[in-house]
Amino acid sequence: MDDRNVFIVRCGEVALKGMNKPYFERMLAERVKLLLRRYGNVEVKRSDGLIFVRADRAHAREEIVAEIAKVFGVSSISPAAETASDLDAIADAAVAFLRARAERGGIRTFKVEAKRADKRFPVKSPEIASRVGARVLGACAELKVDVHKPDCLLFVDVRRENSYLYDRKLPGFGGLPLGTNGKGLSLLSGGIDSPVATFMMARRGMRVEAVHFHSFPYTSERARDKVETLARRIAVYCGRFDLHVINLLPVQELLAERCPEAEMTILVRRFMMRIAERVASETGCGVLITGENLGQVASQTAEALIVTDAAVELPVMRPLIAFDKTEIIDKAKEIGTYETSILPYEDCCTVFLPKHPVTKPKLRNILLSESKLDADTLVAASASARETVTIFPQAF
Ligand code: ATP
Ligand code: MG
Repeated sequence: MDDRNVFIVRCGEVALKGMNKPYFERMLAERVKLLLRRYGNVEVKRSDGLIFVRADRAHAREEIVAEIAKVFGVSSISPAAETASDLDAIADAAVAFLRARAERGGIRTFKVEAKRADKRFPVKSPEIASRVGARVLGACAELKVDVHKPDCLLFVDVRRENSYLYDRKLPGFGGLPLGTNGKGLSLLSGGIDSPVATFMMARRGMRVEAVHFHSFPYTSERARDKVETLARRIAVYCGRFDLHVINLLPVQELLAERCPEAEMTILVRRFMMRIAERVASETGCGVLITGENLGQVASQTAEALIVTDAAVELPVMRPLIAFDKTEIIDKAKEIGTYETSILPYEDCCTVFLPKHPVTKPKLRNILLSESKLDADTLVAASASARETVTIFPQAF
């Protein structure tokens, strides 16, 4: 029975999804299957609102756990021992489990907690726990029971067909399975914020694509490589996606020539949004995503965000809007994008940076400035000159 490693995968919020629950569970199980594909011979089964993964023992447990933890919608994972739902078999498995722990981890005390998911099982939960505990005490002279602070708290989960023993619940990211919440186009810079913003939306089940603007030759090839590296990191969680790379320099040069310098930042942002909207309409993305954050910089005052939004019809989702910078940095470290984000390469926003940007732009003035150029033609030209690269996941 116990010739394979077993993992119990819990589905967090998916469990609340009422009528749609089977759909969400199926999406989640599919994603788990996909991420474990390279291990070969892995079984992924849904049962009782849980997902059971079985993999050959040759594969390191921790590696499999790490893969499953990348799947959005997973709230926790327990590597478990699987046994028949029979009290003798469970007690034997508990002895083996705790003996192995004692040998490897040097534990001295334990406690057993049992739960009967199958109420037809003839022994009640407290009784299961005490009988299993007694068997362990009889078999392992070196182990003692400690009900308050045990070195190892062994859970026994008795289900209809099989029972499971585990002592760890490793956290996942939570959220919802990829592909259950539409598709968005993320404006991905090389900074700290936008990779986190992309991750946050994908965590809620949104499929993502990304657009990146550069100002080559003012910005370097290395700056572009940096963005592709960031994209590959994000793809670890949200799967392979398209990155659309666009040279913004023609737009920036025209704006610099015809519009007030102080408005440059907000004007560039409005053009980024418009071009992104155009790309979104051609790639089936229903929303735009940015890493903007209230008050962080001159272009992110409430007034500036309102004027930015007015450039497009698509909704702009800004998952980081109310975060503090330290919180964003913590998240970036957690998901593995931070180290790349802080590499010191130039961004297209730093080209033509005004000395004194307007921080409270008036839409009336901005529209007047924009009337000096043919926005539609510029946007169409930029969007159609995009270069699209497919980004594949790359762990770190
Ligand atoms: P980040 O850390 O994401 O670069 P930031 O604090 O530097 O953010 P800005 O440079 O003002 O802020 O950019 C705000 C948002 O605009 C970014 O989070 C990103 O979504 C988008 N953005 C900025 N520069 C680019 C770019 N070169 N290409 C694509 N999107 C961009
Ligand atoms: Mg930036």
